[in-house]
Amino acid sequence: MGKALIIGCGGVASVTIHKCVQNSEVFEEICIASRTKSKCDDLKAKLDGGKTKITTAQVDANNVDELIALIEEVKPDIVMNLALPYQDLTIMDACLATKTHYLDTANYEPEDTAKFEYKWQWDYRERFEKAGITALLGSGFDPGVTGVFSAYALKHHFDEIEYIDILDCNGGDHGYPFATNFNPEINIREVSANGRYWENGKWIETEPMEIKRVYNFPEVGEKDMYLLYHEELESLAVNIPGIKRIRFFMTFGQSYLTHLKCLENVGMTSIEPIEYEGKQIIPLQFLKAVLPDPASLGPRTVGKTNIGCIFKGKKDGKEKTYYVYNVCDHQECYKEVGSQAISYTTGVPAMIGAMMIMNGTWSKPGVYNIEEFDPDPFMDALNKWGLPWQEDHNPELVDNEPVKKLDPEYVR
Ligand code: NDP
Repeated sequence: MGKALIIGCGGVASVTIHKCVQNSEVFEEICIASRTKSKCDDLKAKLDGGKTKITTAQVDANNVDELIALIEEVKPDIVMNLALPYQDLTIMDACLATKTHYLDTANYEPEDTAKFEYKWQWDYRERFEKAGITALLGSGFDPGVTGVFSAYALKHHFDEIEYIDILDCNGGDHGYPFATNFNPEINIREVSANGRYWENGKWIETEPMEIKRVYNFPEVGEKDMYLLYHEELESLAVNIPGIKRIRFFMTFGQSYLTHLKCLENVGMTSIEPIEYEGKQIIPLQFLKAVLPDPASLGPRTVGKTNIGCIFKGKKDGKEKTYYVYNVCDHQECYKEVGSQAISYTTGVPAMIGAMMIMNGTWSKPGVYNIEEFDPDPFMDALNKWGLPWQEDHNPELVDNEPVKKLDPEYVR
């Protein structure tokens, strides 16, 4: 059917590329382009021989002219941005200049401030619409599938959704005292930022990790989880009409939190440059260099993830609750594509999102978050491509009590 240009060749991209090759009817040709071309070549060597034709290229995705030249040479139907959030705008600019569809899995972040906001990308709406091309924002798991779950719940189970709790549980164990499951720099920026949730038309800000709950996750068991700000809250607060409250919780083990706190306390998570032996370095980037590469966690991670959404609202005048979630096994993912479940749960929806655009299932020019499209074909594709979902019409709810202060061990 068509050709995709995939930018980035890290943990997430590697899964997406495996999945594109499995889906060769849609992805007849892919070009893998990244900063380090040797990684693209290694992956190509592993996957060559199937029906999908694979080429590779070197590109600096911070450079719009380089991107335009590459897109003009490859002539893809879509550019899949699986590099880092810092590159979103340059890649969107290149897509505009070449009238090519765009997809990503994380919203733009300026490198010097940990801000997670859609405003920069939403500003492209009119230009994409005029150019007749689509930008699909946030086609990973969260954001991504969580938005599809929300659109699906609204379409099939509710007249009105009042409350959404997004629960992201990683019950996996990689055996290291401290490592991050995806890009350490992006991960630590996310979890060390203030928490925030949407309630009654406004944002309520919390200290990082201030709100803790315990939840008994299907197939994983009881875990501590903490309220974080997560980017899909911003778009869902706009796109789910009448929503009263939306929160996001992620599980963390005590060892992770203790290490993170210690690293924070000594200044290692800072993104302010410091001078070291006459050279400017950013502590968080240095930390990334000494931490295990998330891609290396695959063989040693055991256990399961469970990510989903709990909805509360009304159907036919009656109160109703509904939980939809996916459970993914780290070792099963590793057997299939050589990656752990965090990369898998992000990489598969990126492939599906691109397929929706390439085969015309989702076709509207402009810049859209994933919940703005018909969820049904995406939900079917999740079942088909390795992320089957399950439903519970009477789930345990996350309580509403006022803020519970953090465990004393997590000393600020
Ligand atoms: P990695 O660090 O493993 O991979 C990033 C890749 O991008 C690397 O191949 C890197 O190249 C490449 N890259 C970085 N900068 C440039 C540049 N200037 N030009 C070209 N290529 C570049 O990250 P992950 O795979 O873990 O994460 C990828 C994305 O997925 C991130 O944006 C992350 O936020 C997002 N994500 C989304 C989730 C979701 O559910 N929505 C969940 C998890 C992640 P090099 O090899 O040279 O370093």
